Amino acid sequence: MSETAPSHFIRQIIDRDLAEGRNDRVVTRFPPEPNGYLHIGHAKSICLNFGLAEDYGGVCHLRFDDTNPEKEEDEYIRAIQEDVRWLGFQWAGPVRYASDYFDQLYDYALELIDNGLAYVDQLTPEQIREYRGTLKQAGTPSPYRDRSSAENRELFEKMRAGEFAEGEAVLRAKIDMAASNMNLRDPVLYRVLHASHHQTGDQWCIYPMYDFTHPISDALEGVTHSLCTLEFEDHRPLYDWAIDNTSVPARPYQYEFARLNINYTVTSKRKLKRLVDEGHVDAWDDPRMPTICGFRRRGYTPASIRRFSEMVGVAKSDSVVDMGMLESAIRDDLNTNAPRAMCVLRPLRLVIENWPEGQEEMLTAPMHPQDESMGTREIPMTRELYIDQADFREEANKKFKRLVLNNKEVRLRYGYVIHAHDVVHDDDGEVVEVRCTYDPDTLGRDPEGEDRKVRGVIHWVSAPRSQPCELRLYDRLFTVPDPTRLEEGEDFLDYVNPESRVTLTGARVEENLAAPEPESRYQFEREGYFYVDPDSRDGAPVFNLTVGLRESWPRDA
Ligand code: ATP
Ligand code: MG
Repeated sequence: MSETAPSHFIRQIIDRDLAEGRNDRVVTRFPPEPNGYLHIGHAKSICLNFGLAEDYGGVCHLRFDDTNPEKEEDEYIRAIQEDVRWLGFQWAGPVRYASDYFDQLYDYALELIDNGLAYVDQLTPEQIREYRGTLKQAGTPSPYRDRSSAENRELFEKMRAGEFAEGEAVLRAKIDMAASNMNLRDPVLYRVLHASHHQTGDQWCIYPMYDFTHPISDALEGVTHSLCTLEFEDHRPLYDWAIDNTSVPARPYQYEFARLNINYTVTSKRKLKRLVDEGHVDAWDDPRMPTICGFRRRGYTPASIRRFSEMVGVAKSDSVVDMGMLESAIRDDLNTNAPRAMCVLRPLRLVIENWPEGQEEMLTAPMHPQDESMGTREIPMTRELYIDQADFREEANKKFKRLVLNNKEVRLRYGYVIHAHDVVHDDDGEVVEVRCTYDPDTLGRDPEGEDRKVRGVIHWVSAPRSQPCELRLYDRLFTVPDPTRLEEGEDFLDYVNPESRVTLTGARVEENLAAPEPESRYQFEREGYFYVDPDSRDGAPVFNLTVGLRESWPRDA
């Protein structure tokens, strides 16, 4: 086990099981249903399952929980594998599918029937619901509950042969219609679904339910610790029942941990699908989405997501994690690892009157201020530059540490000290150009003379030798911390942040980044961390704001 891995209750269980000899190795699984793209909550489950297997020298399986043929798609199967690999994990053996076990599951169902532990029920779905009772009231046994094993076998075979329509018959476990845990009131094990399946085609017209499929699949794969989220706690007795009452070859155990919830977003595939289907975002990998592919396109690194998932830990009760924690994980990573560059978001022309027309000087700048090993880059200095509109004011108080007309000097990052003495306005009175002079004696040193304290440092690019680019500035997807807490008549989509994406098409970046490496990340100095979007073309780069330089939102629970 790795030195740095934080301990938590699941590790304690594993340590105990290994010490007591209940298991001699650790086998976990990650079991997504292929009905959507994976989100950050799944990332936590992936890091936990694959991470534990790694730390204990065991293995983790990837198994698609594909028992709902109607909602599942191949696109999701492909994307989920890509996401797991991108996070840095590799499953042991082949990609597995619960549907690989349909034959065995069918045989275990027959075994239950033969032992008088399952029956074919022909109540309607509505009747089944009524007969189930309530939390306060015991259920009523179905009139079909006491059929003989032989009759049940015959009917179940007919179900399989396609002789029943959907809803006409189900196979139910025979457990206890008065159980206080509703999940034990003769749960359905199989239902008729005349649907074709992405893996098994039209081979089956009956499909096993999750609660029956999952424990049996775990046992068939030799899974030792089957980790799931808390909502399955009440299903655990059924998990154990299925294992204890069939002749499966192994004894897995289920343990539950808290779901990861993050504020200002949603982590439910159903809700994420609505955001996509109803056009609130471009796609599942829109950089605003809390999907793994969305974070990837936003510029998050796999390491930052793994780090985050370690930071949130493994708890036994649900809570909401601040989005700021995820942002600080990526910020820390990029602060250390992202090379620096200058990009002007909203350009304002600046002319240096005492700089000769046509003259260029290459200035040298480090790729990273604290990491010499990243090397240096050259930046052309010319008579006409762009600075950011936000970095100039005609008048300002002392707090404004940037360029002010007829005021103190500022330094151009990596360059000279300049003084602004004139502006040009357009017909609307907007400043369209700033006229300056520079001091040639100030490259790499402070200006000499009384009262020449430099007011601040601003970033810039050369006007003729910079690259036009598109910037996509992202903000939180929702305007409220919990978009699922709704008043009567509201929908979570009402709280989508209309300013969650602002596109700047006139930005200018150092010409070094005219054709940046795909998937590379930069700190645009004084602005934030940016990622090269796959929409980039040579000579037309597009950058996504991954995260700002500093925490800009108040922390709130
Ligand atoms: P959703 O509610 O978003 O559809 P799900 O639980 O139905 O999620 P599955 O594909 O069934 O999605 O989940 C695969 C695994 O990921 C399960 O073990 C599940 O418990 C886990 N998981 C899903 N959501 C979270 C979450 N928010 N935090 C931690 N683990 C999660
Ligand atoms: Mg599910």
